[in-house]
Amino acid sequence: TGQEQHHEFKTETKKLLHIVANSLYSEKEIYHSELISNAADALEKLRHMQLIEQGFEATHPLEIHISVDKEKCTFIIQDFGIGMTEEELNQNLGTIAQSGSKAFLENLEKEGGSSMSKDKIIGQFGVGFYSTFMVGDKIKVYSRSARPGSKGYCWTTDGLGSYTLAEAEGVAVGTKIVIELREDSANFASKFTIDSVIKKYSNFVGFPIHLNGTKVNTVEPLWTQDKSAVTTDQHREFYRFVANAWDDPQFTLHYRTDAPMSIRSILYVPEHLLSNELLGQRLEPGVSLYSRKVLIQPKSKALLPEWLRFVKGVVDLEDLPLNVSRELLQDNVLSKLRNIMTARIIRWFHNESHQNPDKFNKFFLDFGQFLKEGICIDAQSKKDIAKLLRYETSATKEGELIGLKEYVERKKEGQERIYYLLTPKRKFAEESPYLEAFRKKDIEVSS
Ligand code: ADP
Ligand code: MG
Repeated sequence: TGQEQHHEFKTETKKLLHIVANSLYSEKEIYHSELISNAADALEKLRHMQLIEQGFEATHPLEIHISVDKEKCTFIIQDFGIGMTEEELNQNLGTIAQSGSKAFLENLEKEGGSSMSKDKIIGQFGVGFYSTFMVGDKIKVYSRSARPGSKGYCWTTDGLGSYTLAEAEGVAVGTKIVIELREDSANFASKFTIDSVIKKYSNFVGFPIHLNGTKVNTVEPLWTQDKSAVTTDQHREFYRFVANAWDDPQFTLHYRTDAPMSIRSILYVPEHLLSNELLGQRLEPGVSLYSRKVLIQPKSKALLPEWLRFVKGVVDLEDLPLNVSRELLQDNVLSKLRNIMTARIIRWFHNESHQNPDKFNKFFLDFGQFLKEGICIDAQSKKDIAKLLRYETSATKEGELIGLKEYVERKKEGQERIYYLLTPKRKFAEESPYLEAFRKKDIEVSS
């Protein structure tokens, strides 16, 4: 083995580790799904590389292996995925460049950092790999990149501010994480506990998960299953898995068609507007492109127009040639798919608005900004999106909304025009002398 190098964590990483390690967050088990989601990402990346480049031979099956040991009080998770090079270990585990933990810290600063808000924010963002420090002190990560000719490394830390990195012998391609559990988290060394945690959070990971040698999850992806066979609970779990979120979906679309393309898809609208966007950061797209269950583009930028970035889920396009390059994907097939999916999503929202107008209005209050953005930038769908817009008017109560169609339906006889008043706040509209004249004539004015 080569020489061991010592590294200090960056200041913000130290801060995060300290918070996470001392958190009283009650759902510590989320560390588990963070690790599983990383393992699944790593396996999907390897599968993808194997399709598009030579040399990425699979030495092991694409699986996740977990083993727990009550005596030793350890939790070990191993994947045979893409692995990490020395540089990637430094970069990925030594800094908090990645979005979840960054947003976490930024929010914490805003909220003043009481332990209540800390827990809430951990739950909301997930802190990725660092959530392991909620349950363990000593963490070891063995990793070897699947790139041909890569060496194995061992990264270790006791979470107190520094980590070491050294070359290591006998490391399998992929990543193995060994956690020495703290006494207060010893239950995660129980096979029984982990079995139920896997079923609860990670049932739909598209790779076999073995627990102490036995396979425990359902691998058949939800989107290939029959619509009627999928329960609300399964949708909730799957939503949480694909969106890496902890709320529930407010709208669910399980859509499949065979013409003009073979599409299998499941899409969700989250219950809450994602906090990133509230912080003024742009949301990343939330829908991944698959072909016959194989991930082609995670969180694809080209699959849906940008204004639909709040939608989460999966689109599986069966007819896609697997080894098409990413560049090629941009045009033709993808733009056809984008048109079909955009139209279908708009129709989905229309259905929701008919089925439950109150619920839809609530959705509009949170997510309406995206629809308005769509009208400005998506010339093709503009007219259809416009039918989804909702407004307060002089005849509605605060927070109560109607659409143009309703406005027109109840306009006064002989009213030839539509009236609207633009003000930053409802109050100003109500106090406006302009409105007064319309009030007298009993004409509805929209905002
Ligand atoms: P995120 O998954 O949101 O990027 P994490 O903190 O969970 O954030 O992980 C940080 C990064 O570390 C990942 O983006 C990935 O590059 C790398 N990583 C973590 N776990 C693994 C793994 N099992 N195999 C390969 N890379 C990994
Ligand atoms: Mg992660």
